[in-house]
Amino acid sequence: MQQASSRAASSLSTSSQPVQPAELLHSVFGFASFRANQEQVCRTAISGRDLLLVMPTGAGKSLCYQLPALARGGTALVISPLISLMEDQAAKLAALGLRVARIHSGLARAAARQACVEYLQGALQFLFIAPERLRVPGFPEMLAKRKLALIAIDEAHCISHWGHDFRPDYRMLGQHLPALRGAPDPAPVLAMTATATPTVQADILAQLGMIAPAKFIHGFRRENLAIEVVEIPQPDRAPAIFRLLIKLSHRPAIVYAPSRKQSEQLAAELSRAIPAAAYHAGLDAETRERVQRAFQAGELEVVVATIAFGMGIDKANIRTVIHAGLSATLEGYYQEIGRAGRDGALSRTFLMHSYADQRTHDFFLNRDYPPVESLSHVFEALTGDPQNVDKLRAASNLGEEEFDKALEKLEIHGGARVDFDGSVTRGAPGWKKTYAIQARHRAEQFEKVLRYTVSSECRVAALVRHFGDLEDANRPCGKCDICDPAGAVLRQFRRATALEREIVQSIVDELRPVDYKAAGALQRNLDLVGRLSRSDFDALLDAMARAALIEIEQAEYEKNGEVIPFRKVRLTARGLEVRPATPLPLLIGDGVADEFGGRSDPPMRSKKPKLTRPKLVHEDPKPAKTPAPRPEFRPPTPEEQAFTQSIEAKLRDWRATEAKRLGVPAYMVLHDRALAAVAQTRPASPQQLSQIPGIGPAQAERFGEIILAFCRSPN
Ligand code: ADP
Ligand code: MG
Ligand code: ZN
Repeated sequence: MQQASSRAASSLSTSSQPVQPAELLHSVFGFASFRANQEQVCRTAISGRDLLLVMPTGAGKSLCYQLPALARGGTALVISPLISLMEDQAAKLAALGLRVARIHSGLARAAARQACVEYLQGALQFLFIAPERLRVPGFPEMLAKRKLALIAIDEAHCISHWGHDFRPDYRMLGQHLPALRGAPDPAPVLAMTATATPTVQADILAQLGMIAPAKFIHGFRRENLAIEVVEIPQPDRAPAIFRLLIKLSHRPAIVYAPSRKQSEQLAAELSRAIPAAAYHAGLDAETRERVQRAFQAGELEVVVATIAFGMGIDKANIRTVIHAGLSATLEGYYQEIGRAGRDGALSRTFLMHSYADQRTHDFFLNRDYPPVESLSHVFEALTGDPQNVDKLRAASNLGEEEFDKALEKLEIHGGARVDFDGSVTRGAPGWKKTYAIQARHRAEQFEKVLRYTVSSECRVAALVRHFGDLEDANRPCGKCDICDPAGAVLRQFRRATALEREIVQSIVDELRPVDYKAAGALQRNLDLVGRLSRSDFDALLDAMARAALIEIEQAEYEKNGEVIPFRKVRLTARGLEVRPATPLPLLIGDGVADEFGGRSDPPMRSKKPKLTRPKLVHEDPKPAKTPAPRPEFRPPTPEEQAFTQSIEAKLRDWRATEAKRLGVPAYMVLHDRALAAVAQTRPASPQQLSQIPGIGPAQAERFGEIILAFCRSPN
């Protein structure tokens, strides 16, 4: 530590004599070597160039602003949306002997003042601030009094309407940056995030007014994962999972189950032959800790978990990750499959889905994004004069939770200003637009998951593209069910029938004279209705794409102001050559291999409803009939919900009292999302509590014990 601090201090004083990045890496951070791409990013930042850095969570983005900050000398300004993130990073830097301060709403005024004094004295190497600080009159001017080493903007996707965590305060950054950067030779702006689709990337660059930025988008490709996506009815999933995991080479494994009940049932079934256990929020903390430890130690080989599992797991040899239902976002899915094969050895992942999975998701979406009318209702009640939150809530005809959720969304979107004394003032009417955009975005995220399941693009390439690495997105992985259908373990492929080969020929003939056709138009023109169901037709197109006879591109057009996605189908050079006599060893995706308990009736005559594409993805103006929900779909039982709800209710009561006592809105004590997560995951230790998103160190310190006590004794 001593050494680190003197090295860090000298890097400040000898900034005229450039320190080598590698030297700082060893002496200050204590790391043996750079991780992939870190050095290049550091060098770019040190040179003073603006940059956008997109790398997965855990890839080591922080170092990419921290090291250049030391190399450049002076104070780095770090803007971060979450107090917990700020505290965590500040603590880590302080532990390295670096001089750090932070300013956010969780700190006493004196501490903030002290930080400003130190900043102005040039005594800080890092200053962390929350973006809303820039609203405080005089604060940006105070910052601008000194030349900054660099400005790092963490979680930069928050600036974009299209990002899933849009934060209006990030929007203000753009207008303050020019003054903060100074002139001449402006301080570089470093924007970092783990998730930025190409749209979000462009938005970040534009909003921040970045100057000739370098873009580093890396690290999303996983070389050793064989990904399979399989349509399989819910009742068939358990036997399929059993048969997969009975093979030793497929273990250890994590299975993600959509509900607690399912995780219990599945674990019980697997336990007949495999050391397996359930892991979910309804289990007591001790059990969960025991399961986690046993899995880590190799005594348990399979854990069947709800999404709460995996954060604390550091197990390199996980061979299989199975999703027994759809994830809500590709981000979540990617993170979960990413737990497989950390040791670099080949690992398999299976995503099981069917139409029924869509309904579970709709339920959550409606809960988290209340209708615009609810927000309007609250907005109408607000005035230019501050009003007491509790009185407003009592006077409204919304439930307490609904009200708080609506107010929270209003505040995020600028329709309300909530102050620490628990009063609310009316904001600007523009909230409606951005809220609608964001709610829409959430729905779209799930639609992207659905599209992923029905896509005929290499699974890895699709994910890499989703995360914005367009350069790397064209290389097929060679291992997934699309790249290597014959190598698929669970998903079954069969040879095309004579009828299908005939249809392939007519598709080729139809496409030959044109640049492209929409998939929907193709099906209508060929009058295949009746001969081939829509999903069988899609399976056939997918098979043709896999055989490189056609290319399928996701595209969209506008109709009455609405963006309608469709699929462009183009003939490839190889497809052009197909003649009736051409041998076509086409493999058609066909559900689940028999040995895994798949269906045995011939696919073309199957009466089982197949996955329809989501409404949005329909290229057909007349959407196909929506199949009736599968009878096996069952929402969580009342008993299942009651357990979590009892804890939730206790927490809510306590929160209301506490909020009243402190005179702040309830969500300032504990955010709804955090509250729900606490009830779901029932943390057993302060450490587990602090892992819950939305629980910052300040909250953990103030309320940690009480919250943990609720989790210990729900009654
Ligand atoms: P990100 O912000 O990309 O999610 P972090 O910057 O928080 O990731 O880094 C994740 C972890 O990796 C941290 O514990 C960090 O100390 C560690 N780390 C970063 N760079 C290196 C490196 N070159 N060698 C070893 N560990 C590293
Ligand atoms: Mg980070
Ligand atoms: Zn692939």
